[in-house]
Amino acid sequence: MSDSRWEAVDRYFIDALVGTDAALDEALKESDAAGLPSVSVTAPQGKFLHLLVRIHGARKILEIGTLGGYSSIWMARALPPGGKLISLEAEPKHAEVARANIQRAGLANVIEVRVGKALDTLPLLEGPFDLVFIDADKSNNPAYFQWALKLSRPGTVIVVDNVVRDGAVVDPTSTNESVLGVRRMVELMNSEPRVSATAIQTVGGKGYDGFVLAVVNGS
Ligand code: SAM
Repeated sequence: MSDSRWEAVDRYFIDALVGTDAALDEALKESDAAGLPSVSVTAPQGKFLHLLVRIHGARKILEIGTLGGYSSIWMARALPPGGKLISLEAEPKHAEVARANIQRAGLANVIEVRVGKALDTLPLLEGPFDLVFIDADKSNNPAYFQWALKLSRPGTVIVVDNVVRDGAVVDPTSTNESVLGVRRMVELMNSEPRVSATAIQTVGGKGYDGFVLAVVNGS
């Protein structure tokens, strides 16, 4: 099946079930206009994250990798009153665009964007978080997973995006840093008794990829 078919199916479900709104559409438009790469989650994936926040009853969310704030807005909209989302972003320009998008979405009091390399800003955070969404430089996924665990409690949900990479994840000879980052993280998860995890392959407007879904086990 072709990418254009995947896009058409995404469009069908966006129109039929997912919906979007002015603030989310504007966030994508402004991110494009500012020259940010078009690597945010798709609308169906954004809605999936939104529903996950609701299903889990999350009140405190950590996101690693803000870009223009598109996934942050989807998730923050599912938070109850008093909920909080902290999003870590290395690029000051991305953070600036994200803050403007977040402001327009009326979520400036809910989402805090912290600028800096995540490995520098993670140690300054206070957990536990109810849900962690990892979506930054994939080579650091093993370290981000370890930080997510450190900042977790039993029941914390961890989602890691872009783990399939057009199928490249199954190539044990790959020297691609992103693929290696995903594979090392998966090995860590596999040997970590504190988490239970799965991975789901996805196709859609952004091609063939997938995500890891993990939960921190009870003590
Ligand atoms: N989660 C966003 C969404 O779906 O709307 C997309 C995030 S994009 C895939 C990855 C982001 O991670 C980029 O904005 C990039 O600048 C940021 N990033 C890359 N390396 C980083 C690092 N070391 N620390 C924090 N952010 C980083």
